[in-house]
Amino acid sequence: MLGFCERCHEMTEYTIRDEKKQKNIKGKSIEYTGKEAYCNECESEIFVSDIRDYNLAMLEKAYREKEGLISVSEIEIILEKYDVGKRPLSLLLGWGEGTLTRYLEGDIPAKQYSDMLKKILDDSNYLKEILEKNKDNITDVAYRRICSALQKNGTETDTSIESEDKIDYVVKYLLANSVDITPLALQKLLYFSQGFYKAFTGEYLFYNNCEAWVHGPVYRSIYYKYKDHGYNPIEEKDYEYGDIKLTAVEKELLDSIVRNFGCYSGKVLEKMTHAEEPWRATRTGLSDNEGSDRIIDKELIAKYFNEIKSKHGMLNTSDIRDYSTDFFNKLYN
Ligand SMILES: [Zn+2]
Repeated sequence: MLGFCERCHEMTEYTIRDEKKQKNIKGKSIEYTGKEAYCNECESEIFVSDIRDYNLAMLEKAYREKEGLISVSEIEIILEKYDVGKRPLSLLLGWGEGTLTRYLEGDIPAKQYSDMLKKILDDSNYLKEILEKNKDNITDVAYRRICSALQKNGTETDTSIESEDKIDYVVKYLLANSVDITPLALQKLLYFSQGFYKAFTGEYLFYNNCEAWVHGPVYRSIYYKYKDHGYNPIEEKDYEYGDIKLTAVEKELLDSIVRNFGCYSGKVLEKMTHAEEPWRATRTGLSDNEGSDRIIDKELIAKYFNEIKSKHGMLNTSDIRDYSTDFFNKLYN
């Protein structure tokens, strides 16, 4: 790569190196790993605008993580989960109507605003309270859409205060019905569950989006929940599986996922998802070890698993076996 070296006074080849960096933001010291370009002739630093942008993005990410601020993709999940637009939700929260638009474009929210959003993401009862209080701020149509989304999410005013998401039930069911599942394997089983459920029923099993991380598709909230296990299996004492609200159709699909994919290690499953189109397409332009929080578009997943289903002529969920064994044989023989 060529850049202008101030010291050599000409365009020279440069080399990029990773570098630990530190910067103060709002009085807090933030450490992050950035990059720097060095002239191949004289070894002095060279300014490259792409590298500056990259460093800014890494710094911002480190700041959000350190402060526990909500990410852009989590805000997108809120909008999807409650079937609400960014403008109505801003108004509902008593903010300026363009506030969420700015956050979605990358502006960093103040801690207080971020905490409200996180609370809404985790707890639909909290949104329900706000909705009843501020419904005059939004149109009837927007109000009704949120109400029906809340109903779908299973919120009841007078029953449970803490509502669990569908994905939490799916996780419990997968854990309760398999052995030696590591967090890595769990992520892949969730992904296959989502894909095949959509292919067989036309519906998504849960609303959550997954991201195209280095080791395959990852559902972020589940990642945080189990990340302390590292590469060790999640033990029975680590979850309560008494209360699992799933339909017979959902359970049947999950049984087939456990039977046909649960027998492989997390690493084998990772290799499978790496070979599949949705993860690959989403990571276009990234190198193998490059971190990313890009969301794998649900429609990509839907399209891919639909094609798998027709290609293998699958009629019912037990036919998933054809795909998993074929796949394994292709990868390892
Ligand atoms: Zn130079």
